[in-house]
Amino acid sequence: MRTTLVLLGAPGSGKGTFAARVSDALHLPPISTGEILRQAVRSGSPLGREVQAFVEGGKLVPDQVMSRVLTSRLAEADCAPGFILDGYPRTLAQAHLLDATLEAAATQVTAAVSIEVTDELVMRRLGGRRSCPNCGAVYNIHTLKPAREGFCDKCGTALVTRPDDQPDTIRKRLAVYAEQSAPLIAHYRGRGVLKTLDGGAPLDEVVTLIIGMAGAVQAS
Ligand code: AMP
Repeated sequence: MRTTLVLLGAPGSGKGTFAARVSDALHLPPISTGEILRQAVRSGSPLGREVQAFVEGGKLVPDQVMSRVLTSRLAEADCAPGFILDGYPRTLAQAHLLDATLEAAATQVTAAVSIEVTDELVMRRLGGRRSCPNCGAVYNIHTLKPAREGFCDKCGTALVTRPDDQPDTIRKRLAVYAEQSAPLIAHYRGRGVLKTLDGGAPLDEVVTLIIGMAGAVQAS
Protein backbone atom coordinates (compact mmCIF):
# COMPACT_ATOMS: atom_id res chain seq x y z
CA MET A 1 0.00 0.00 0.00
CA ARG A 2 1.14 3.53 -0.79
CA THR A 3 2.28 5.51 2.28
CA THR A 4 0.97 9.04 2.47
CA LEU A 5 1.98 11.00 5.54
CA VAL A 6 0.56 14.42 6.36
CA LEU A 7 2.57 16.46 8.86
CA LEU A 8 0.44 19.05 10.65
CA GLY A 9 1.90 21.66 12.96
CA ALA A 10 2.36 25.38 13.47
CA PRO A 11 5.10 27.23 11.61
CA GLY A 12 8.31 26.40 13.48
CA SER A 13 7.00 23.09 14.81
CA GLY A 14 9.85 21.37 12.95
CA LYS A 15 7.77 19.82 10.16
CA GLY A 16 10.44 20.45 7.51
CA THR A 17 13.23 18.90 9.57
CA PHE A 18 11.11 15.88 10.52
CA ALA A 19 9.90 15.44 6.92
CA ALA A 20 13.50 15.37 5.63
CA ARG A 21 14.59 12.76 8.20
CA VAL A 22 11.54 10.53 7.74
CA SER A 23 11.95 10.86 3.97
CA ASP A 24 15.50 9.46 4.18
CA ALA A 25 14.32 6.54 6.31
CA LEU A 26 11.23 5.62 4.28
CA HIS A 27 12.57 6.60 0.82
CA LEU A 28 9.57 8.79 0.11
CA PRO A 29 9.80 12.36 -1.23
CA PRO A 30 9.13 15.17 1.24
CA ILE A 31 6.83 17.76 -0.32
CA SER A 32 7.01 21.22 1.22
CA THR A 33 4.46 23.48 -0.45
CA GLY A 34 6.12 26.47 1.28
CA GLU A 35 9.44 25.57 -0.38
CA ILE A 36 7.78 25.07 -3.80
CA LEU A 37 6.24 28.56 -3.48
CA ARG A 38 9.45 30.20 -2.22
CA GLN A 39 11.38 28.65 -5.10
CA ALA A 40 8.78 30.01 -7.54
CA VAL A 41 9.17 33.48 -5.97
CA ARG A 42 12.98 33.26 -6.23
CA SER A 43 12.80 32.27 -9.90
CA GLY A 44 10.32 35.04 -10.74
CA SER A 45 8.01 32.56 -12.53
CA PRO A 46 4.33 33.45 -13.19
CA LEU A 47 3.39 31.33 -10.14
CA GLY A 48 6.02 33.17 -8.08
CA ARG A 49 4.64 36.57 -9.06
CA GLU A 50 1.12 35.40 -8.24
CA VAL A 51 1.97 34.19 -4.72
CA GLN A 52 4.78 36.52 -3.60
CA ALA A 53 2.68 38.97 -1.57
CA PHE A 54 0.88 36.13 0.25
CA VAL A 55 4.04 34.22 1.11
CA GLU A 56 6.03 37.25 2.27
CA GLY A 57 3.08 38.58 4.26
CA GLY A 58 2.52 35.27 6.07
CA LYS A 59 -0.96 34.86 4.54
CA LEU A 60 -2.35 31.69 3.05
CA VAL A 61 -2.16 31.40 -0.73
CA PRO A 62 -5.71 30.91 -2.14
CA ASP A 63 -6.93 27.31 -2.33
CA GLN A 64 -7.40 27.41 -6.14
CA VAL A 65 -3.72 28.26 -6.62
CA MET A 66 -2.65 25.60 -4.10
CA SER A 67 -4.77 23.01 -5.86
CA ARG A 68 -2.73 23.58 -9.08
CA VAL A 69 0.53 23.41 -7.12
CA LEU A 70 -0.43 20.15 -5.38
CA THR A 71 -1.90 18.39 -8.40
CA SER A 72 1.13 19.04 -10.57
CA ARG A 73 3.59 17.97 -7.85
CA LEU A 74 1.73 14.73 -7.06
CA ALA A 75 1.69 13.84 -10.77
CA GLU A 76 5.50 13.55 -10.76
CA ALA A 77 6.90 10.01 -10.92
CA ASP A 78 8.71 10.08 -7.57
CA CYS A 79 5.33 10.32 -5.77
CA ALA A 80 4.13 6.93 -7.07
CA PRO A 81 5.19 4.92 -3.94
CA GLY A 82 3.87 7.63 -1.61
CA PHE A 83 5.02 10.97 -0.17
CA ILE A 84 5.32 13.08 2.96
CA LEU A 85 3.41 16.35 2.96
CA ASP A 86 4.81 19.26 4.94
CA GLY A 87 2.63 22.36 4.94
CA TYR A 88 -0.31 20.94 2.98
CA PRO A 89 -3.24 20.83 3.69
CA ARG A 90 -3.66 24.13 5.54
CA THR A 91 -7.46 24.40 5.12
CA LEU A 92 -10.39 21.99 5.06
CA ALA A 93 -10.90 22.65 1.34
CA GLN A 94 -7.29 21.58 0.72
CA ALA A 95 -7.80 18.43 2.83
CA HIS A 96 -10.85 17.54 0.73
CA LEU A 97 -8.87 18.03 -2.50
CA LEU A 98 -6.13 15.75 -1.17
CA ASP A 99 -8.68 13.10 -0.14
CA ALA A 100 -10.30 13.23 -3.59
CA THR A 101 -6.94 13.03 -5.38
CA LEU A 102 -5.90 10.00 -3.32
CA GLU A 103 -9.31 8.32 -3.68
CA ALA A 104 -9.03 8.68 -7.46
CA ALA A 105 -5.83 6.63 -7.16
CA ALA A 106 -7.58 4.10 -4.86
CA THR A 107 -5.58 5.13 -1.81
CA GLN A 108 -5.86 7.41 1.23
CA VAL A 109 -3.91 9.29 3.89
CA THR A 110 -1.95 6.72 5.94
CA ALA A 111 -1.43 8.95 8.97
CA ALA A 112 -1.87 12.65 9.76
CA VAL A 113 0.68 13.53 12.41
CA SER A 114 -0.02 16.64 14.49
CA ILE A 115 3.24 18.03 15.87
CA GLU A 116 2.42 20.06 18.96
CA VAL A 117 4.62 22.94 20.16
CA THR A 118 4.19 26.03 22.35
CA ASP A 119 4.14 29.56 20.86
CA GLU A 120 7.24 30.41 22.94
CA LEU A 121 9.23 27.57 21.34
CA VAL A 122 8.12 28.71 17.87
CA MET A 123 9.19 32.33 18.49
CA ARG A 124 12.63 31.13 19.63
CA ARG A 125 13.12 28.70 16.77
CA LEU A 126 11.90 30.91 13.92
CA GLY A 127 13.47 34.07 15.32
CA GLY A 128 16.85 32.29 15.10
CA ARG A 129 16.31 30.87 11.62
CA ARG A 130 18.50 32.15 8.76
CA SER A 131 17.91 31.14 5.15
CA CYS A 132 19.90 31.24 1.95
CA PRO A 133 18.10 33.47 -0.60
CA ASN A 134 19.94 31.68 -3.42
CA CYS A 135 19.57 27.92 -2.76
CA GLY A 136 16.99 27.79 0.05
CA ALA A 137 19.25 26.05 2.65
CA VAL A 138 18.14 26.73 6.22
CA TYR A 139 20.29 27.37 9.34
CA ASN A 140 19.66 28.43 12.94
CA ILE A 141 21.83 30.82 14.97
CA HIS A 142 21.23 28.70 18.09
CA THR A 143 21.11 25.12 16.84
CA LEU A 144 22.39 24.80 13.27
CA LYS A 145 25.15 27.34 12.61
CA PRO A 146 26.82 27.55 9.19
CA ALA A 147 30.59 26.90 9.14
CA ARG A 148 31.25 30.60 8.32
CA GLU A 149 28.92 32.86 10.29
CA GLY A 150 26.34 34.59 8.09
CA PHE A 151 27.12 32.64 4.89
CA CYS A 152 25.63 29.55 3.25
CA ASP A 153 27.74 26.37 3.50
CA LYS A 154 26.41 25.12 0.16
CA CYS A 155 26.75 28.16 -2.12
CA GLY A 156 28.51 30.91 -0.10
CA THR A 157 25.62 33.42 -0.40
CA ALA A 158 24.99 35.82 2.54
CA LEU A 159 22.20 34.43 4.75
CA VAL A 160 19.03 36.43 5.47
CA THR A 161 16.08 36.33 7.86
CA ARG A 162 13.10 35.35 5.70
CA PRO A 163 10.54 38.19 5.50
CA ASP A 164 7.97 35.83 7.05
CA ASP A 165 10.34 34.98 9.95
CA GLN A 166 10.19 38.56 11.32
CA PRO A 167 8.58 38.51 14.82
CA ASP A 168 5.36 40.32 13.80
CA THR A 169 4.86 38.01 10.85
CA ILE A 170 5.57 34.93 12.99
CA ARG A 171 2.77 36.02 15.33
CA LYS A 172 0.45 36.49 12.34
CA ARG A 173 1.36 33.03 10.96
CA LEU A 174 0.64 31.45 14.35
CA ALA A 175 -2.76 33.14 14.45
CA VAL A 176 -3.51 31.99 10.89
CA TYR A 177 -2.50 28.44 11.84
CA ALA A 178 -4.69 28.38 14.95
CA GLU A 179 -7.71 29.70 13.07
CA GLN A 180 -7.55 27.88 9.74
CA SER A 181 -5.78 24.64 10.48
CA ALA A 182 -7.48 23.53 13.71
CA PRO A 183 -10.44 22.03 11.76
CA LEU A 184 -7.92 19.78 10.01
CA ILE A 185 -7.23 18.04 13.30
CA ALA A 186 -10.94 17.25 13.63
CA HIS A 187 -11.07 16.13 9.99
CA TYR A 188 -8.28 13.58 10.37
CA ARG A 189 -9.49 12.47 13.80
CA GLY A 190 -12.86 11.74 12.18
CA ARG A 191 -11.14 9.62 9.54
CA GLY A 192 -9.31 7.65 12.25
CA VAL A 193 -5.80 8.55 11.04
CA LEU A 194 -4.83 11.34 13.45
CA LYS A 195 -1.70 10.90 15.58
CA THR A 196 -0.25 13.54 17.91
CA LEU A 197 3.24 14.01 19.29
CA ASP A 198 5.33 16.52 21.26
CA GLY A 199 7.42 18.56 18.79
CA GLY A 200 9.64 19.76 21.65
CA ALA A 201 10.99 16.21 22.22
CA PRO A 202 14.50 15.32 20.96
CA LEU A 203 14.74 15.10 17.17
CA ASP A 204 15.64 11.39 16.94
CA GLU A 205 12.77 10.49 19.24
CA VAL A 206 10.22 12.40 17.14
CA VAL A 207 11.56 10.89 13.90
CA THR A 208 11.34 7.33 15.30
CA LEU A 209 7.77 7.98 16.46
CA ILE A 210 6.68 9.27 13.05
CA ILE A 211 8.24 6.28 11.28
CA GLY A 212 6.41 4.00 13.71
CA MET A 213 3.15 5.80 13.04
CA ALA A 214 3.53 5.27 9.29
CA GLY A 215 4.26 1.58 9.81
CA ALA A 216 1.67 0.96 12.52
CA VAL A 217 -1.17 2.49 10.55
CA GLN A 218 0.02 0.80 7.38
CA ALA A 219 0.02 -2.64 8.98
CA SER A 220 -3.48 -2.33 10.47
P1 AMP B 1 5.73 27.18 5.21
O1 AMP B 1 7.16 27.12 4.77
O2 AMP B 1 5.02 25.85 5.11
O3 AMP B 1 5.55 27.85 6.55
O4 AMP B 1 4.97 28.10 4.13
C1 AMP B 1 5.39 29.44 3.92
C2 AMP B 1 4.24 30.23 3.30
O5 AMP B 1 3.84 29.64 2.04
C3 AMP B 1 2.96 30.27 4.13
O6 AMP B 1 3.00 31.27 5.15
C4 AMP B 1 1.92 30.55 3.04
O7 AMP B 1 1.98 31.91 2.63
C5 AMP B 1 2.42 29.72 1.87
N1 AMP B 1 1.88 28.33 1.88
C6 AMP B 1 2.59 27.16 2.00
N2 AMP B 1 1.78 26.10 1.94
C7 AMP B 1 0.53 26.58 1.79
C8 AMP B 1 -0.75 25.98 1.68
N3 AMP B 1 -0.91 24.64 1.75
N4 AMP B 1 -1.84 26.79 1.52
C9 AMP B 1 -1.70 28.13 1.47
N5 AMP B 1 -0.52 28.78 1.57
C10 AMP B 1 0.60 28.01 1.73
